[in-house]
Amino acid sequence: MKGRIAIIGGGFTGLTAAYYLLKHGYSVDLFEKANDLGGLASSFIIHGMPIEVSYHHIFKTDIFLINLAKELNLENKLKWFKSSTAIYYNNHLYSFNTTKDLLRFTPLPFIDRLRAGLVILFLKQLKNWKILTKKKAIDWLYKWAGKNVTEVIWKPLLVGKFGEYYQTISMAWLWSRVYNRSHSRQFRVNELLGYFEGGFKVLAISLEQNIRNLNGNIFVNTQVNKISTTSTNLVKIYVGDRVHIYDKVIVTTPSDVFITLAYDNNANKSVYLSKLQKIKYLGAIIILFSSTQNISNYYWHNINDISLPFLVFINHTQLVPREWYSGKYVYYLGKYVPHDHEYFTMRDDDLALLWFRSLKKIFPNFDQSLIQTIKVFKLKYAQHIVDCSYEEIIPEYNTDIPNVYLANFTQIFPEDRGVNFAIREGINIAKIINY
Ligand SMILES: Cc1cc2nc3c(=O)[nH]c(=O)nc-3n(C[C@H](O)[C@H](O)[C@H](O)COP(=O)(O)OP(=O)(O)OC[C@H]3O[C@@H](n4cnc5c(N)ncnc54)[C@H](O)[C@@H]3O)c2cc1C
Repeated sequence: MKGRIAIIGGGFTGLTAAYYLLKHGYSVDLFEKANDLGGLASSFIIHGMPIEVSYHHIFKTDIFLINLAKELNLENKLKWFKSSTAIYYNNHLYSFNTTKDLLRFTPLPFIDRLRAGLVILFLKQLKNWKILTKKKAIDWLYKWAGKNVTEVIWKPLLVGKFGEYYQTISMAWLWSRVYNRSHSRQFRVNELLGYFEGGFKVLAISLEQNIRNLNGNIFVNTQVNKISTTSTNLVKIYVGDRVHIYDKVIVTTPSDVFITLAYDNNANKSVYLSKLQKIKYLGAIIILFSSTQNISNYYWHNINDISLPFLVFINHTQLVPREWYSGKYVYYLGKYVPHDHEYFTMRDDDLALLWFRSLKKIFPNFDQSLIQTIKVFKLKYAQHIVDCSYEEIIPEYNTDIPNVYLANFTQIFPEDRGVNFAIREGINIAKIINY
């Protein structure tokens, strides 16, 4: 045995790190505070089938995830489906899948449609994204895509995702979204998106089984409350009234949580801590519901109308077979909000009522009486703010506490966070420990 490692957090970063470290001969204990594994991509059962608390799909470019699925013999569970996207703008739904759709997108004058297409083409070809890091996405778009394209297509997306921070977001982040998305299409007209039959739960269960088979320990419902070091630089972790001692500890919780675990009273004024303190997070509010009604024939709906309370409407069973959910249609509504937003404290019933009223504006035929199940999820650490100086505050994997490592989605840049990159983080941190 090479050493005793504790991993805090049983999302996909923690699970992947545990799996690879065990394969390299370490002893691993993984602690997860929730009663289930999977973190932001954890699941619950709807109509007999696991489904994520927040909408999830897989891109063709998600190579770390696809390779892990192959390694775990889950290839037959990873299915690919034709996606379809629409934009809701000015009281209309517009199909937005192909170049033809863009050329037919009447909210923009024809010359702007061409301009929008050229900007996407440029971003798709661009390899040296570093030149965009210090450029604000909104300014860059006004300059190159123009006022109309920016205000109709891009600004509502930035506002929806980053709220009051939308003007600060780095163009490198937006480049990565466009680049990965367009390369995910390859030569197809319609994008193919992946999803596991049985949801991401299938991947979490397989990692869990492999970890246990390799003699790793997983403790769910087990919150770590504090981390400190001994005089010989072993690491102590505090769980309830017990203290466990390890050679090394990997923290995969959000950075804010890591601060409370490891930096007592903020007495430590290190550069590392000041980087962690500068990271700003938004939460996500998700309403998941099932119905006997088919509300729309598109999978993904960008709501480009900032007067509506949600950013996205997803018809999950337009992507995957609804037979998986006993024939019911399954939908998500979602929005990113700051932690002090009223949606965090609003009663679930009131929130659902408010959002359903807006959904009816988009789809006048939407019939609330046909809804079967409604679940509201409020996720505190859902997205971080990737502004133009974000690169300077990305925390290193090696923290300033001896033998304590950090691996979470704040280290992913310029890509958007995702399970694919969580798996990459898990692999990276395992390599660093096993150097
Ligand atoms: C709305 C939304 C939509 C998304 N859509 C997609 C998508 O379509 N495709 C995709 O690939 N990705 C998507 N993602 C992103 C993806 O879910 C995340 O990037 C990924 O799950 C992050 O994994 P992680 O392990 O790094 O972090 P997390 O999942 O946050 O895991 C951290 C874990 O630490 C645990 N923890 C926290 N504190 C403690 C403590 N004190 N003690 C013990 N445990 C603790 C938490 O409970 C959690 O389980 C989406 C995310 C959101 C919010």
